[in-house]
Amino acid sequence: MSDSQTEQNVAAILGASDAEPARAAALAVAVRGASKTYPNGVRALESIDIEVREGDFATLLGPSGCGKSTLLRMIGGLSSPTTGSVVLGSVKQPATSGASTTVGLRGQTPGAAHRKPGLAFVFQNPTLMPWASVERNVRLPLDLMGEATGSAPRVHAALQLVALNDFAGVYPRELSGGMQMRASIARALVTEPRLLLMDEPFGALDEITRHRLDREISDLWARRWLTVIFVTHSIYEAVFLSTRVLVMSARPGRIVGELAITEPQPRAEAFRLSERYARWCKELSEMLAAGSDKSGAQPLSA
Ligand code: ADP
Repeated sequence: MSDSQTEQNVAAILGASDAEPARAAALAVAVRGASKTYPNGVRALESIDIEVREGDFATLLGPSGCGKSTLLRMIGGLSSPTTGSVVLGSVKQPATSGASTTVGLRGQTPGAAHRKPGLAFVFQNPTLMPWASVERNVRLPLDLMGEATGSAPRVHAALQLVALNDFAGVYPRELSGGMQMRASIARALVTEPRLLLMDEPFGALDEITRHRLDREISDLWARRWLTVIFVTHSIYEAVFLSTRVLVMSARPGRIVGELAITEPQPRAEAFRLSERYARWCKELSEMLAAGSDKSGAQPLSA
């Protein structure tokens, strides 16, 4: 493939131009009055009301076990709310249970959702197929959607986004933990999702790698038309990445506060060392402690 063709594919994944897009305020996700009780009786979430706007980098922050992953999985349609509803864009589908969940994104019919999902997940474990090359791993969602034909330029462009194009032919075991995670992100981006759901994606990595991937995902988000919902229990990571942080209490998880991190994007390493960063972290830490006090749980340390 020629360099100009690759550039066109990268540009397609990034959006029409590399310029900072005007942030529209359309609703990307709305969770209304949602609760979740698992069949074993664990009440994971209670009365969740959140709205995420297109272009947000929204982070769910709270102590382990407070229901962050449960909420993310509900937003991604991997789990249904026990009560209440989850709406992506303007498309809502009733769930069989009587509560509501969704499968489609704005502008898509639910039936089209399986062909072009509009959302993608990145989990803490990169979950790469060990017997397949990086290229084949990244191509997997296109294979599953029946779009394998002519997929090479899209795979190449996704790998270029995460700077893994020189590693297309290698196997996951040959990659470092950070590179495996970048392959997992490329696999998510290859479908050109509008909504990226990330469940503690860098939690298992060493701190230096984690900081580097934080910078890379901040840069990717800022360069393309993408809405991100990110789960972490790290105050530091939440402040570095987010436009908005939604603070959750201990189980059953509730939203106990919200903080808009009004700092320029993408964030550079210098931000981490700034006084402003320390002030945001302090404010968020106090919100978490106040939320924990209200729920009777232990405060969370960063
Ligand atoms: P977090 O992501 O904040 O760590 P989770 O959403 O993973 O929290 O879990 C919230 C609570 O729900 C925990 O007490 C967990 O043990 C419980 N839980 C999670 N998944 C299940 C499940 N499939 N069945 C029963 N309980 C679950």
